[in-house]
Amino acid sequence: MPISSHIHRIARSALDLIFPVRCASCEAPGESPFCGPCADTLVPLPPGCPVCSVPGEDEVLAALRPRRCGHCRERAPPFAHASAPYLHGGALAEAIHRLKYEKREDLARPLGVLFEACAPPRADVIVPIPLHFSRLRERGFDQARLLADEASRRFGLPVAGLLVRTRATGQQVGRDRAARERNLRGAFAVCGELRARRVCLLDDVLTTGATAAAAAQALLDGGAARVEVRTLARAP
Ligand SMILES: [Zn+2]
Ligand SMILES: [Zn+2]
Repeated sequence: MPISSHIHRIARSALDLIFPVRCASCEAPGESPFCGPCADTLVPLPPGCPVCSVPGEDEVLAALRPRRCGHCRERAPPFAHASAPYLHGGALAEAIHRLKYEKREDLARPLGVLFEACAPPRADVIVPIPLHFSRLRERGFDQARLLADEASRRFGLPVAGLLVRTRATGQQVGRDRAARERNLRGAFAVCGELRARRVCLLDDVLTTGATAAAAAQALLDGGAARVEVRTLARAP
């Protein structure tokens, strides 16, 4: 064995002692990002709306005749496209919950591997959807920023913090779509030069798309040429 790979192996096992490889959901040792049983709960995003990717009622029909969903037909969102590699649920939902609410920022790296399961965005720059300063202070880190760094590595695109959340919008959970939209109106502002660049907005989960829509609108108003959205998971 060449000496360099020997040293590499020693370094790796030392790292494994400090940061043992574990399942991001159930902590089973030795497998990353998920152990076998947890990986079995991951559901690749089925065919659906070509704009917001909400899964179609009839998956086969949606794949054959891509049609915008009722919400996108009624009022097209400001982003051109939103997609995610997997549906939000099972072990992935558990891992995202741990990342956000159990201060497990170390999980951003293994979860970032999941971006490999989706096509690269048509974009010049990745912009994470920011937390409000008060939430950032409470959590200590911004999970979207950490995931954006991982997506950047995979898609070969730079990350730029070009958005700020100008007011705390509280929890979106429990609000319907209209209430979410009202709550988010004007909640984001651009802080930097967009120069007609194409932006890929990045976040952990897309639910109704109201947050992504508000962020995308701010970017377009600020001079972005096109905005698409990429998240780790999409609510079914
Ligand atoms: Zn597991
Ligand atoms: Zn749609």
